[in-house]
Amino acid sequence: ATSFKTKRVAVFGLGGSGLATVRSLVAGGAEVTAFDDSSASVEKARAEGLPTGDLREADFSSFDSFVLAPGVPLTHPKPHWTVEKAKAAGIEIIGDIEIFVRERAAIAPGAPFVAITGTNGKSTTTALIAHVLREAGRDVQMGGNIGVAILDLDPPSETRVHVVECSSYQIDLAPGLDPTVGVMMNLSEDHLERHGTMENYAAIKRRLVARSGTAVVGTDDPLSAAMAKSLQADGVNVVAISENDAIDLAGARALRGAHNVQNASAALAVARALGVPDKVAHKALATFPGLAHRMEEIPTSGRVTFVNDSKATNADSAAKALASFPKVFWILGGKPKTGGIEALAPFFPKVEKAYLVGEASEAFAKTLGGHGVEHEFAGTVDKAVEMAAADAAKSTDKEPVVLFSPACASFDQFRNFEERGEAFRKAVLALKL
Ligand code: ADP
Repeated sequence: ATSFKTKRVAVFGLGGSGLATVRSLVAGGAEVTAFDDSSASVEKARAEGLPTGDLREADFSSFDSFVLAPGVPLTHPKPHWTVEKAKAAGIEIIGDIEIFVRERAAIAPGAPFVAITGTNGKSTTTALIAHVLREAGRDVQMGGNIGVAILDLDPPSETRVHVVECSSYQIDLAPGLDPTVGVMMNLSEDHLERHGTMENYAAIKRRLVARSGTAVVGTDDPLSAAMAKSLQADGVNVVAISENDAIDLAGARALRGAHNVQNASAALAVARALGVPDKVAHKALATFPGLAHRMEEIPTSGRVTFVNDSKATNADSAAKALASFPKVFWILGGKPKTGGIEALAPFFPKVEKAYLVGEASEAFAKTLGGHGVEHEFAGTVDKAVEMAAADAAKSTDKEPVVLFSPACASFDQFRNFEERGEAFRKAVLALKL
């Protein structure tokens, strides 16, 4: 990124996106110092020839900018109080998206740039938008919170579209965010440990659309609907989308469920804003392959359909999955989130039987039992798959479905939801069907 040429920049947090930031700033002629708490991470950067520094000696007042990796809490803790020190030094604290935004402004201000946020459906919508634009023959770079770090993508240009997923953490660190098209899908309770209140969380998400050329905003929850209204009142060009929009998704197997109507509607609105003919965009929906671990059908030869929705790390996501099928054999559990699964009670009549895994088992058993839902303790994903598959095979349902939608984080038994989803896939493929 050349827009930081000769500037002194500290980068803290040397994961994938942090390293991409350092490389990009170095290549653009900035004077960069890379920091991390972990000496192993610092070593790795140094081995690559990148300029690293020692946190204990760092004097942040000598820097122009402080770039923070999105995963690092703003209250970065003892012993170094890194963020506190940067704040005290009065230097700006930004993230990699902000660097991209400034680079675009400097080298290709008209470059089409689509930014996507929301509590749920970000990755699906981002991938779907990229797919639709590619099918329409556009040169697409996709990344950000999904896949490739934004500064590892090819640079912005007038003939290339950047489709970028933004978490609330990333928006928080991108004060200049001004996409050509901004997409704000929905808002429900999440990440309040960082953002404090729902109002603050919503205000951060709003910043992604407030300065966009076109703001595509979901209207299926009250906070988002209110945001759409207030944006309109502020003169922003708003396109309202909903899961009730009339979109034919008959051929699109990867877009099951009402929530995917919202996602498809967002993709169509973005395509239209970028001048893609409606017909072309519609046609592309049917060929969307879907994303792994999100309502992903595991191909088997048997009569039972196995669906991997490991990405459903909260009750809200699991609700969408449950809503997509008439009846399910439901595998759930993991590291529970505040509120548990009480909010899912309206869907319990669909549950033929539930199979519980992980730390949440006892608590979930209580909730399920309280509503008269048949359930069993499985302990592990492997065991749950065996149990659910056996029951589903005996079921009289026309198309029995085993749904793995945990409504929990994965960290009690897995490194992340991807690893958990792979465990489910392996267990399904190991079944003797
Ligand atoms: P994110 O990137 O925001 O975490 P994903 O696209 O990975 O979202 O989807 C995560 C889960 O959220 C999916 O498995 C699905 O159950 C649910 N989901 C997807 N799209 C939506 C939507 N538009 N509204 C609500 N929930 C959704």
